[in-house]
Order: sequence, then structure tokens, then C-alpha cells
Amino acid sequence: MIPVTRSVMPAFEEYAEEIRSLWDSRWLTNMGEKHRALEQKLAELLGIGTDRLRLFANGHLALEAMLRAADLPEGAEIITTPFTFASTTNAIIRCGFTPVFCDVKREDLTIDPAKVGALITERTAAILPVHVYGGLCDVPALEAIAEKHGLKLFFDAAHAFGDRPAGRSIAEYGDGSMFSFHATKVFHTIEGGCVVFKDPAMGARLDAEKNFGLGYEKDAYTVAGGNAKMNEFAAAMGLCNLRHLDDAVAARQRIAARFRTELGDIPGLTILNRENDPGCNEIYFPVLAETERDRDALAAHLQERGVGARKYFYPATNELPYVTERFGHSETPVAADASRRVLTLPIYPELTEEELQTIFSAVRSYFTR
Ligand SMILES: *Cc1c(COP(=O)(O)O)cnc(C)c1O
Repeated sequence: MIPVTRSVMPAFEEYAEEIRSLWDSRWLTNMGEKHRALEQKLAELLGIGTDRLRLFANGHLALEAMLRAADLPEGAEIITTPFTFASTTNAIIRCGFTPVFCDVKREDLTIDPAKVGALITERTAAILPVHVYGGLCDVPALEAIAEKHGLKLFFDAAHAFGDRPAGRSIAEYGDGSMFSFHATKVFHTIEGGCVVFKDPAMGARLDAEKNFGLGYEKDAYTVAGGNAKMNEFAAAMGLCNLRHLDDAVAARQRIAARFRTELGDIPGLTILNRENDPGCNEIYFPVLAETERDRDALAAHLQERGVGARKYFYPATNELPYVTERFGHSETPVAADASRRVLTLPIYPELTEEELQTIFSAVRSYFTR
């Protein structure tokens, strides 16, 4: 079976060498040497100071910490996309805010800035879009809306680490962004995540959120913080994987280009266009069938031929039962339709030519059956 994804790993010896010093120091977590080194390297890569970046135990807790650290009014409305992983919506709800769902653009399935305005009320405090599948949102349009209405703008950039947009660093968008370093993402620390932010004052608050309210100054509790610290073994994995990030992204882009050449002319199969976003990290390879029935049949067909494929994202998060029960139904027809027709195909740096051929012929054979 060709899995839909496969975690990248450094050579065993490289990791063993990286963690050797931990046996001497016995410093295993709480912002140790590896943690600080990784923050430094990430900040350099993103072109910001370390005072504008914080590591976390995982992306989800990083997202919650970012929302909490923003000091939004209690119960405020946050305009967000339903075409995402449950984490985005759950973070809003778990922090006590109200998700307000905005539909997405058909071309790239990111939030549609033209539809944000109509959703703004006096309770709206922030916008939380997602760079879904590593494809960048219309950042300038969203920044203009946020500025005009005095809203905070935070990005769920879980998919976007490793994107290389022309121009401004991805760490400079809006008021802040969360990156996930989960094992299945382009770059990982096994489990991990990070927040980058515009206002350096947010740093102390994020420190407190991830360390029981203590932050780095261990003398006073400042907020009812939780525990979301990245440990040294995770940070060490990150230091190793960072050395291979460029290769990993290049391999994904090569594979994505092959997919586009090999499958781009199949009537009945839509591939997202990345012509305006050539720096996309190609973290996933989504395709859309013509109908939900077709999508489900294609998934079964691929499964039978040893090709893993995932209905990702399905359902849209505004259709999840605990969301509709509390927040009612919202009309986001483009997201609803895409979630029923989308399937992500296997993509990861170690995919071999033989496996690629298996995937191509399995997909093609469905449409010529
Ligand atoms: C992976 C992911 C998250 C959560 O990140 P973790 O590191 O797995 O906690 C949040 N949002 C999106 C869109 C994701 O894909």
C-alpha cells in the first residue's frame, strides 16, 4: 500500500549525534539548548528576530495560545474558513470564542475576502484564515479588511511552513501565524508547532500560556497558563530536519509537477492551479472529482490498487455536529461542495518512480474504465 504521506526522517546517526549532549546535560525540556537553537534557526530562516517567535509542543496548542494571547473580548466572533482541519475551528471554540464561517474561493479553496465583509458585526474581533494545502490566502486583501475594520488577523499556517513566496516573508503576514511541525507536515519535530507574531509584547504572554503562567521568569504566575512546551528531543529532530528542508520541498515540488503533467488532462478531474503561487510547498496533492459519488468511487478504486488517498477535508468543519448544535448552520456552498469532491493523493519526498507510475495508472484507469 502506498500511504498518503510518510514522515521525513534524518539519518539515524544524524539524530543520535544531535541528542548526544542531552545525556550529559540531563536537560530534557523547559527551553533548553536544543529549544533555543531551533528558535534561532527558525527565526533566521523566516527573516525575523527570535523575540517574534515561540515554539510549542504542537501546532494546535500553539494556535490556542496565539488566540488567547491576542486579548480578544470574551466570546468574541472570529471569522474563519470551514474548509480546514478540525483543529482550526476547535481552537476557536475551546478558547471560548464564536466561529463565524466564511466561504472559500473556488480556485484555491482559501477564504474568500469578498465574502468576509458581510459577516462582520460589532462582536467580530479577528479573522483566522488558513493557507490550506500550503496555498497562500489573499493576504493583502485580508490585511486591508482587518485594517479597515480594526480586526486582528491571525493565520492558521499549519500547512505553510516551507512555502517560499516571492516578496514578504510568510512570518510577516497579519498579526501572527501558527505553523504545525507535526510528523505529517513538510517540516516536523515529531510533534511541535510555533507562533510568529508582529508585536514583540505578545512573546511574554505566549511564554506564560505554554508554561503554567510562569513564562521564562519563574517568580510569578501571570495567567492561568497550561503546558505546551516543546521538549529537547523534539527540538533536536527539528534541528536535523531543518538541514534537509530545501531538499524535501524540492522533491515535493518535483512530484507535484509530475502529477500535473500526468493527470492534468483528465476530464472529470480538477487539480488546483498553483501558477500564481509557485513557491507552494506542495504539502498535499488535492484533486477534485465531479461529484461526491465519483470521489468516493475513485477513493475505493485507488484503495483496491494499493494507493492510499484521503478525503481531506471532509466534512467541512461547519457541518460537524458539535458545531451546528451550538452555532447553527452556515451557508458556505463552495466549501460544502469541495469537501464532498476532494481527495488528496500520496505525496512525500521518498515516493519512488515506480510508486508514482502505480498512482498515475490507478487514477487514469478509473477514468477510462
Ligand atoms: C496539522 C494542523 C493543525 C494542528 O497542528 P498539530 O501540530 O497537529 O497540532 C492545525 N490546523 C491545520 C490546518 C492542520 O493541518
